[in-house]
Amino acid sequence: MTAIGLRKLVAFLDSELSLSEFPKDDSINGLQVEGGERVTKIGLAVDACEETFEMAKEKHVDFLLVHHGLIWGGLKSVSGVTGRRIKTLLDSAISLYACHLPLDWHPRYGNNAELLRVLSLRKTGEFGEYHGKRIGYRGMTKTPVSMTEFVKRVDKTLKVRSWYVDFGRKVRNIGVVSGGGWSAIHDAEDLGIDTFLTGEASHSAYHLAKEMKVNLVFSGHYATETFGVKAVGKMLKKKLGLAVEFIDSPTGL
Ligand SMILES: [Zn+2]
Repeated sequence: MTAIGLRKLVAFLDSELSLSEFPKDDSINGLQVEGGERVTKIGLAVDACEETFEMAKEKHVDFLLVHHGLIWGGLKSVSGVTGRRIKTLLDSAISLYACHLPLDWHPRYGNNAELLRVLSLRKTGEFGEYHGKRIGYRGMTKTPVSMTEFVKRVDKTLKVRSWYVDFGRKVRNIGVVSGGGWSAIHDAEDLGIDTFLTGEASHSAYHLAKEMKVNLVFSGHYATETFGVKAVGKMLKKKLGLAVEFIDSPTGL
């Protein structure tokens, strides 16, 4: 079984995932909890929570890479839910590594680049400013399609049932921001987007989108954010020969 030192793996990931591109991320990106010194199996998950930690334990994972980590904006106290979660990780010697905005944005492994790829959209540029930097992408369909046809493609690919609002435009230029990315709608008019795809449904986006005549597709926070960690897993297997496993723990939201 291939093994790697924890420090070496962390340094590799920090650089490969370009963590330094997002110094203002609320998430403390990188190693959040230190488990054992050697890593033999990597788990990949969307959320840091008891459910994924228990599944990681069962699968003999000793390094868990997640999109939503445990520490946001600094640690205030190790008590309650946070205390229990950290105890589970330390008791099982599982290291926790978080990668938030860099993994939405990343051109090679990011949620949004991957969403374009799986939906067969040709990347045409960046889209969706967040904390002073665009974290999403825009892409084109081969030919204009109806909203019904586009949503069908999304639902089949992501295995979800999206909420959507059709404001009468044919679908050709699509802006994509995974997760809770609704505020990217502000970018849509200037960039000539006709359809905006994000994760969580947002009431606030409705009238903006209506007045801009931009169709809305909400496909779920979880469902739009499994692609990044999976792409990182593939890369780790290929480049470092490590055992990896995706830990699926959908919220349905
Ligand atoms: Zn998210």
